[in-house]
Amino acid sequence: MKPGTMLKDIARSLVRKPVTERYPFERRPAPDRLRGQLIWNPDPCTGCGLCALDCPADAIEVLVIDKKAKIFEITYHLDRCTFCGQCVESCRQGCLEMQDDQWELAALDRGGFLIMRRKDGAAPAKQDSPPANGDEQAA
Ligand code: SF4
Ligand code: SF4
Repeated sequence: MKPGTMLKDIARSLVRKPVTERYPFERRPAPDRLRGQLIWNPDPCTGCGLCALDCPADAIEVLVIDKKAKIFEITYHLDRCTFCGQCVESCRQGCLEMQDDQWELAALDRGGFLIMRRKDGAAPAKQDSPPANGDEQAA
């Protein structure tokens, strides 16, 4: 680059407003179609397991607690999810939705990435915990 051009660029950048945004102090609204964290509406869920079967990342587990009483439990491994939306497409009951306002998902430990919910609202039956960093490769 010629020194003259460089000086012009420097002078221009001194008077121009920066194009960068001061995140997290300034936030733009997320697009309506953004695929954020998955949310499960347990009421219409039939426990069919299609969401888990079709998930390419093995991020969903469906546990049938009581078939007769229609009590199911869903485990969502948020840290495995690729936000592809396949489970939402696969669910015939419309139980799954990707939230467009839940996308700031960074955390210091993986505990919060394991989300378990039971249809009857009771404590989850599946006692699982996320592996510590690096444990997955060792298993
Ligand atoms: S969005 Fe994709 S990766 Fe995430 S749980 Fe659904 S199917 Fe699996
Ligand atoms: S969320 Fe939908 S696809 Fe998954 S088990 Fe329930 S009804 Fe089946």
